[in-house]
Amino acid sequence: MEPISYVFPATTPSVAVAGEAVRFPVRRIFCVGQNYAAHTREMGGDPDREPPFFFMKPADAVVDSDATIPYPPLTHDFQHEIELVVAMARGGADISAERALDHVFGYAAGIDLTRRDLQAEAKSKRRPWDWGKGFDHSAPCGPLVRTANVGLPAAGRIWLTVNGVIKQDADLRDLIWSVPDIIAAASRSMTLTPGDLIFTGTPAGVGPIERGDRVTGEIEGIGQIKITVAA
Ligand code: MN
Repeated sequence: MEPISYVFPATTPSVAVAGEAVRFPVRRIFCVGQNYAAHTREMGGDPDREPPFFFMKPADAVVDSDATIPYPPLTHDFQHEIELVVAMARGGADISAERALDHVFGYAAGIDLTRRDLQAEAKSKRRPWDWGKGFDHSAPCGPLVRTANVGLPAAGRIWLTVNGVIKQDADLRDLIWSVPDIIAAASRSMTLTPGDLIFTGTPAGVGPIERGDRVTGEIEGIGQIKITVAA
């Protein structure tokens, strides 16, 4: 019998670095659920500082800015979530919040694309979120800006438009858990490694996007992420 042929992936998933030819290789994608009080309430949750919780997307779900993304299968409620993305340059377990920023490569604006109907079904049936969150092209991420250029983005406008209409508009000040808190919490559960991305949660105003829509997200001082949903 002939052995079954197979092909290794040609490239490691990666995201752009602002103003540089080098790209940041992605190892894993962690995402924080419900990290802005108003969004937590709109999803039916209670924002009173419960510990942050996480879910994951596959590394090859990353998509560069200006990509055209196919409308994903199995959903009738494809939604946008603008988020601050943290890129880890150094790993570690049990990283303290005080030292967390020493581990950060940089930041970007990203969109946690969500099949909301599948996520809602998973929640109601107490099933995993993977099918609602971790599908192909579900993690658009703009160019990373290095920490040396921005410090800790603890404040700044974060917003998203669909076809030029503002849908999400908030401030990083409204994060329930700060970037150092999130890194500390994640690293208590898993050893973080260089190449890990953390999507830090979305503010209120999430909603559906349709075929042909142009979606633009921006974080003050960090940058933009733009996608088009294929017609
Ligand atoms: Mn999210």
